[in-house]
Amino acid sequence: MLKKSLSWIRPVIKNIQAYHVADASGLIKLDAMENPYQLPDDLNAELQVALSKAELNRYPDPSAKCLREKLSQVMKVPESRSIVLGNGSDELIQMLAMAVANHDGENDICLMSFEPGFVMYKMIADFVGIDYVGVSLRDDFTLDMESIRRSIKQHTPAIIFIAYPNNPSANCYDEKDIEEIIDMAPGMVVLDEAYHPFAKSSFMDHLTRHDNLLVMRTVSKMGLAGLRMGLLCGHPDIINEIDKIRLPYNINVLTQIAAEFVLDNVEVLNQQAKLICDEREILLDKLNEMSGLQIFPSQANFILFHVAAGESDKNANDVFESIKQSGVLIKNMKADAGLLENCLRVTVGTPDENTAFLVALEAAMNND
Ligand code: PMP
Repeated sequence: MLKKSLSWIRPVIKNIQAYHVADASGLIKLDAMENPYQLPDDLNAELQVALSKAELNRYPDPSAKCLREKLSQVMKVPESRSIVLGNGSDELIQMLAMAVANHDGENDICLMSFEPGFVMYKMIADFVGIDYVGVSLRDDFTLDMESIRRSIKQHTPAIIFIAYPNNPSANCYDEKDIEEIIDMAPGMVVLDEAYHPFAKSSFMDHLTRHDNLLVMRTVSKMGLAGLRMGLLCGHPDIINEIDKIRLPYNINVLTQIAAEFVLDNVEVLNQQAKLICDEREILLDKLNEMSGLQIFPSQANFILFHVAAGESDKNANDVFESIKQSGVLIKNMKADAGLLENCLRVTVGTPDENTAFLVALEAAMNND
């Protein structure tokens, strides 16, 4: 019976490698772009009081109206634009993909993004059974506009996802190039601004200029990854359609209360983001002083680096394992070829965590 049951599972699902989350027990966790800071004790105590009043026996507000209004203000969403919330921005990517997935067999629906990029765009295309086209970035992780123009013409993507800044390269693309993509796109363009708290620019105020532009944000990188909440902003007619796919009550009552509370005190998170940006600059300087590494610029809360630069004969797997042995978990990009070959990604942590990482990296690079 098990064999029979499994035979119903689509081959594309069987071929997917599940999204792997490394075990970080006992390690300094610099692998997942989290904010390393908690809320200050006094605010945390107030939050606990607010949470204790939650009516867990009742369903939450299905459309989280109050939370959406607060988000609109804090994130400066233009008044004429609407918001739909997801259980993390991952869920919003899934809702978008489900909204365009069409299996009538006549049209090949596809999602498009750039490679190397955020892995979820392709994974979700696979989940919902539509094509994914990943256009390669140039060697310096900038957009290859010639190839993008060609690919858009050839594939007519229903949605183009642009992570801004990009994960894992941490850079923001050229604004004019993105404008050109929005103008030329046959469908929606989603600017995924997950790392906005650490970047200098945003497309939020471009929303009113383009009906096909959607801006996606998350509270995860700001310091609320445990809440699981993302938002998608755009033209009300598009947001209304996406909202129909949203499962009722997808934002639970504890998340609604906690997010509203923290948004009322958002200056605390803004201050933490500033600390992280300052630490990023210190970390970039120190990494750039080390030999045998190529460090890529960052406008996010993480840094990508290549370990086999210049004379160095190091390989990323060995360096990653050695850093882990020293008690620090970063991300091994594990690419055998292409732009991410021999690349590692480290999240910016507290000053002490960053020092522990630098000491571990130094030791790894000097190990024979
Ligand atoms: N977009 C990008 C570019 C990301 O890197 C991530 C998480 N790593 C997400 C979206 C998803 O964020 P979340 O689901 O936590 O909101």
